[in-house]
Amino acid sequence: MVDYIEYDADWGFIIDPTTLTMQSLHGKAPVGSIILTKAKETVEAGFDVVVTKYFVAKKTGVEALGGKKDASVILADLALKIMKETGEMPADITVKKEYSNGNVDLVFTASDYDKFVLKFTPKMTACPVMDFLDTLNEPSRREFNPVESWRVERAKSGRATCRTCRGKIEKDTLRIGEPSFFQEHKSWKWHHLACVADDIWGIPEEKLEGYEELDSDEQNVVRETIWS
Ligand SMILES: [Zn+2]
Repeated sequence: MVDYIEYDADWGFIIDPTTLTMQSLHGKAPVGSIILTKAKETVEAGFDVVVTKYFVAKKTGVEALGGKKDASVILADLALKIMKETGEMPADITVKKEYSNGNVDLVFTASDYDKFVLKFTPKMTACPVMDFLDTLNEPSRREFNPVESWRVERAKSGRATCRTCRGKIEKDTLRIGEPSFFQEHKSWKWHHLACVADDIWGIPEEKLEGYEELDSDEQNVVRETIWS
C-alpha cells in the first residue's frame, strides 16, 4: 500500500517514487515522491520565466529542497533502488557521461521541461558504475499507475472531441476520460480509446472507473487494448 499525504499547488507535479513517472499534482502526493511546483515570474518587462521549486513528500509532511541538485540526489537513490529491484534500466534514463574514476552521469528525462542529472558513483553500485549498468536489461513495458482514476464509457453523444487527435468521438464508441480539475471539481477530458491506449497501458482496474458498467464485448475490447 502506498501512503499519501495531502498537498496541493496551483501548478504542480509529482514524480512517483516507485516508477519515476511524472504526473500532475491534485491534492495528494505519494510518500517518498518528489514534488515540483511551478510559477510564472516576470524577470523584466515582457519576459516571463517558469520558476520550479522542489520538495520531497515525507510521512511527516512536505519538505522544501534546496534546489534541483537536492532533488537529483534523491532521484538518483530512487533510480538505483528501482534498477536493483527490477534488474532493468528505467525507460526515461540514459547515460550522459562516463568518467575515468568510474563515476557516471545519467540523465533522467521526467518531462520535456524537467531533466535531472543523476550522479552515480562506484560506491553506490559497489563496482564501476558502467559494469553495474551493463547487467541491467532493457526496460519492459511500464504499467501506468495514476494517482487519480481515469474513466471508460460508451460515448453518450457524438459531441466530444478527442484531446489527443482532435477528431470527433462518435456516439456509442468507447471513450477514455482523463481526469481534469477545475477548482477541486473533477471532470474528464475525453480521448478515443486507441489514441491513449499506449499511455494508459496496464492501468489497474480499480483506477479505471466505468469498466464494470460496460457490456462484455466492450470489456473484451478494453482488455485486449490496455490489459494484454
Ligand atoms: Zn483520437
